Parts: sequence; structure tokens; C-alpha cells
Amino acid sequence: MSAVAATSVGQPVADLELSRAWLVDPAGGREGPGEIIVTNGVLEAVNWLEGDEAAGVDERGVVVAPAFTDLHAHFREPGNEAAETIATGTAAAAHGGFGTVCLMPNTDPPVDGREGMARLDSVVAGLSSPVRVLAYGAVTARSAGEELAPLGELADAGVVGYSDDGSPVRSAAVLRSALLYGGMLGLPVVDHPEDLGLTSGAEAHEGLVATVLGLRGWPAAAEAAAVGRDLAVLADVLADEPRARLHLTHVSTAPALDLIRSAKAARLPVTCDIAPHHLALSDEWLAGSRRWAWEAVDSVGRARDPWTDGSLVAAPFDSSLRVNPPLRSPEDAAACLAALLDGTADAVATDHAPHTSVDKDVEFGLAANGISGIETALGLLIAGVDAGRLPLLRAIEAMTLGASRVLGDRIGPGSGLVEGEQATLVVFDRADSWEVSPTNLLSLGKNSPLLGLELPGRVLLTIVDGQFAYRDRSLDA
Ligand SMILES: [Zn+2]
Repeated sequence: MSAVAATSVGQPVADLELSRAWLVDPAGGREGPGEIIVTNGVLEAVNWLEGDEAAGVDERGVVVAPAFTDLHAHFREPGNEAAETIATGTAAAAHGGFGTVCLMPNTDPPVDGREGMARLDSVVAGLSSPVRVLAYGAVTARSAGEELAPLGELADAGVVGYSDDGSPVRSAAVLRSALLYGGMLGLPVVDHPEDLGLTSGAEAHEGLVATVLGLRGWPAAAEAAAVGRDLAVLADVLADEPRARLHLTHVSTAPALDLIRSAKAARLPVTCDIAPHHLALSDEWLAGSRRWAWEAVDSVGRARDPWTDGSLVAAPFDSSLRVNPPLRSPEDAAACLAALLDGTADAVATDHAPHTSVDKDVEFGLAANGISGIETALGLLIAGVDAGRLPLLRAIEAMTLGASRVLGDRIGPGSGLVEGEQATLVVFDRADSWEVSPTNLLSLGKNSPLLGLELPGRVLLTIVDGQFAYRDRSLDA
């Protein structure tokens, strides 16, 4: 790798040449050995190497891909800047390889009208980071679940969709109206599928682990019931508005994914994403296991018993594992992986949910829900790639092209390696690892269950629209 001329965040990439790297181009459907040249912020050359030139370059070394897009992140500004600000959140995003983030509107106050978007726009205008910050608007006024927010006004202000995330859209009638007007405005409704009637007081996925630990069960049916309702409402509204679009976020269970698979086969306009922690972790982590979800099933796909096979290595009840939806069974995690592989899941989205230690370092059942995950998403996916469970191209595609398929061209260019465009790239060393630690996480949210673990796939550079967004210290040597 050549010396990088400009170093600081927000500076243009004057001159960068990466030779003998593994290039991944999801939009072009291609990966292989190659080199790239960036000059004055523009991706000037993408050269694919063949024959002798390609010898010795493989997908296990330095990888160059389009910078990732996160369809689902919570930065806590305004309202809880001790947990995350837009400035710290974008720094964390870039450290994770993300060049574009889509923020959920459940701040305090929420983004439920033009004032909220104006407030956000003024903060973003003052950022030194080039990371693209996009936003959803609330489905309902004050995100209170009762009357519709001014969806047209929010569309004019530039939102990329509508969501009451943190909660589901509570009323089917409100969801119907939101899908109808969102369709007219060309924007999707992003629902957090949870039947609140089934999850009151719930603490952990309903199953053996919750039973043994004495935690109140959170049934898979709560998700499937909500997905079923949403799909029924979507099917109904299409007769009135064929442009209606539903996106289901952080889907985590086999039954819900089966419903979405059937709905897609019936050509309903539905998309969905899966969070990295639902692919790589499972509920046995609550008991103290630290093995990947794919190691927690036997050869016929049944969950192993962590109490009898010696896999409990950490203390139980780590509250950083409390998340909504909860970590599921290893079988559900396997279903998430299968859904990612067969296209039922369009994208991987982090559901980055930073919290302060005040809200998180408490008894398991009292802890705030959420994992600070935007910096560890790549590592969790690469762990799956390293284990032979997930092709590298599909992993990258799920955080680039997959997000584009959900939100269309509203997220800006960047799902491919296209000569002549402003460079929007991530460069990571798949063979190098890094320790997840409070110091290494740039997010103010240190609430990661991965603290103390080494993750593969060290991000070296994130470049957005021709400017540095992240540059690893190892490059200073
Ligand atoms: Zn949610």
C-alpha cells in the first residue's frame, strides 16, 4: 500500500493507490484480484488482475469494496447526547466501514415533522465527517402511535422512509394509512415487528435458556404475529396504492422469515433486514456461552446444550446482551443466515443502539434494550465468512447493494466500484483482527457483548465522496 497523502477526517483523498488487493463490486456482481487508483477524490482506475499478475492475491487479505450503508442506526442526538451524538455516531460508523447511515427518528424530541429534519440538517452541516447521514421520519406524531405524522411534509424535508422504530406501528389502521400515503410519496414504511401484547415484561427469547435462567420468555410468535399483520395490511392496501412498500427491520426468527419468504414468492412488495447479532450470536450467550451461533447447532441443525458440552465460559446475565428483539435460539440464527443466503433477507442492518452505563450496567431485566453494533457488524459477518457459512460477496452485498434495493437511489451512489465516480470505499484487512474494547470503540455506547473479544476484518480506510472518513492508525507507521 502506498503512503496516504492526506490523513484527517474530511480531507480529500488526493492520491491513493492500492495494488494487489481483493476487489468486491456488488453492483457489478464481481470480485477478484485487482488494483484501484484514487486521484483528487475520484476513483480513477479499477484494474482487475489476471494470470501471473493475480498470483498470490486472494480474498483473505486486503479487501476493497464500496463503503457500507446502514439501514438502521440510532444516534441519540437530540435528547441523550451522553449515549451518542451525530458526530460520535458518524465516527463510529466510519470505523465500521459505513459511509452512509439511516437514522431512526426516535430521538427526544423525535423527527416527526419539518422542525426535526431542520434540526438534524443543521447538525449534519457542521460535521467534519463526510459520512452521509440520512433519516427516517416518524410514522406517527410524537411517535406516540396515534395520529399520522405529516408524511408529505417529512418527504419534502428529505426523509428516506417512515418508522416508529423502538416500537411497532401499533394500530393496523394507522399502518394502512402510512403505507398508502408512503406509497404515493414513493417512500417505504419500516416496521419493527413486535406484538406488544405478547412481550409485556419479556426479558429473553422464550426457550430453554430463559427457563433455566429464570427470565421471562419473549416468544417468537410475537414477531411472526406482527409480520403476519403487516403483510395482511400491505396486501390489502395494494389494491388502492400499488406503490405501497413495506420494510421489516431486524427480523430474527424462523417463523417470521418463512412468512416473508412466502410473501416475496407471492410478489408482495416487502423487503427485510437482519441484524448482525441475530446472525452470529444466540440466546445461549445469556448463559455464558461465547461461541458463534453456527457452532451452537449440531449436524442436523438442532441447538446443542451449552450446559453439558462445556461451552459456558463467561458469567451469565451480561446486560449488554439485552436487545429488542432478543437474541434468539441457534436454530433461529441459522434461519437468519439461510434467509440472507437465499435472498429472503435483502440486507444486514446494525440496529446500532448505544446506551450509557447508567442505563445498561444494571440487572439484566432492567437494562435498556440495545447493542452498540455499528463498529462490530463487519467483524461478525467476516466471522461467518471465515467459518465458510457466508460467501464474502454476499456479506458485502448485504451492506451495500441490499440497502440500495430497500431505499433506492435515495442513499446516493456507491454500490459498485465505478471508474470516474467520487470514491466511496471501504478498505479492510480480512486477515487482521482487532480487540473490541471501550477505547477502540469510537461510539460513546460501550454496550457491546463483544468487549474483550478479537474480531476479524480490521477496517483500514473508509472514504466517502472522495474524502477520508476513517483512517486506521496502523497506516501512520
Ligand atoms: Zn426496532
